[in-house]
Amino acid sequence: MDIHDRELNSWKKKGACVGVDQDIFFPERGASTRLAKAVCRSCEVQEECLEYAVNNGEKFGIWGGLSERERRAIRKKRGIVLKKKPYTKFAMGRPPKDLH
Ligand code: SF4
Repeated sequence: MDIHDRELNSWKKKGACVGVDQDIFFPERGASTRLAKAVCRSCEVQEECLEYAVNNGEKFGIWGGLSERERRAIRKKRGIVLKKKPYTKFAMGRPPKDLH
């Protein structure tokens, strides 16, 4: 486990989404994100989750209460340019369920 993994693990276990159906965080295109965002609003690690997703270019799903489009707007406002990630199994779809 590297430092990045430790950082991720330090907050993700406290997420309000632990034990919640992960499908609500990865809605089909055009489907409602309301339920996922409601869970995030009650989450004690929302800020950490959002910062992680913004700084790591998470492309899919609701993280920290925001959609990818909303996170992209934050990156643009902050002038964050992401490095291309090497191919991973996430590149073709959603991340594994244990990431949320
Ligand atoms: S996605 Fe992030 S902010 Fe939302 S409930 Fe899970 S850990 Fe909390």
